[in-house]
Amino acid sequence: MKSKLLITVLIIASLPIRGLPADVLRVVTTTTDLAEMVSAVGGDMVEVKSLSKGIQDPHLVEPRPSMVMQVRRADMLVRIGMDQDLWAQSLIDAARNSKVIYGGEGYLDASRRIAKLQVPTGRVDMRMGDIHIFGNPHYWLDPSNARLILEDIAGKLSELIPSETDHFRRNCDEYAAKIDSAIAEWQRMIQPFAGAKIVTYHNSWIYFAERFNLDIVGYIEIKPGIPPTPSHIADLVDKMKSETVKVIMIEPYYNIRIAETLADRSGARVLALPSSIGGVKEVNTYLELFDYLIIKLSETLSD
Ligand SMILES: [Zn+2]
Repeated sequence: MKSKLLITVLIIASLPIRGLPADVLRVVTTTTDLAEMVSAVGGDMVEVKSLSKGIQDPHLVEPRPSMVMQVRRADMLVRIGMDQDLWAQSLIDAARNSKVIYGGEGYLDASRRIAKLQVPTGRVDMRMGDIHIFGNPHYWLDPSNARLILEDIAGKLSELIPSETDHFRRNCDEYAAKIDSAIAEWQRMIQPFAGAKIVTYHNSWIYFAERFNLDIVGYIEIKPGIPPTPSHIADLVDKMKSETVKVIMIEPYYNIRIAETLADRSGARVLALPSSIGGVKEVNTYLELFDYLIIKLSETLSD
């Protein structure tokens, strides 16, 4: 008994102060979806924290001192990029951690290899809205983009822990294969509603709509980040009636009252949908996110 106790004491004494084995990487991500992907690829070689919650507007997360500490201690940071998580820049600047600044060994912008949609051509000015100036940043809502993100995460983790390269590669392939087979099923489920006309609050569903063959005909916001005026709503009601729009998609953090008014006037139905893991209590994984979206949309469109 005595020797067992001694061994236990020795093990506890040899643990680093913060309670993590020395070779476990601390990773922070700007969204919950990226956190799950890092966790899926890194397994027990990583400890991951998302700086935002799925119920928050991913454009507007209020930086807090505890978040600066997380970034300061991080070995790696993964962000959506394209200025979607501009709020994270103030955290990175305040944390003064050279590993996770732009170009640092642990810095990963997950948008790097994504085929970006709606990239503005020509001169960009404020009339276009003050967000989405590098194109539409909501690319994680096309689950086909997950493979590119997972591969980049595996690549970055392998640079940081080269001895685990095969392990990360295997985890990445397994997870990406799971998503691929789920995509086929989701496409089969939504196929009867191909071409369905939709209105969304914010311009956040374009990647999703392209993947699942939906037709977004208008937005409640005038431009990304710019709230509607009465005349914009009046025009949208006319358009929705003439094009027989059945569904208004809105994330829980936007103004649902405006969507409900629009629904009353147009005859469409409001569908409040999460855009990330944790956006509603039923959605705890990236696969569950799309299960939820596809089931809710199919139910509403079939009514
Ligand atoms: Zn946006």
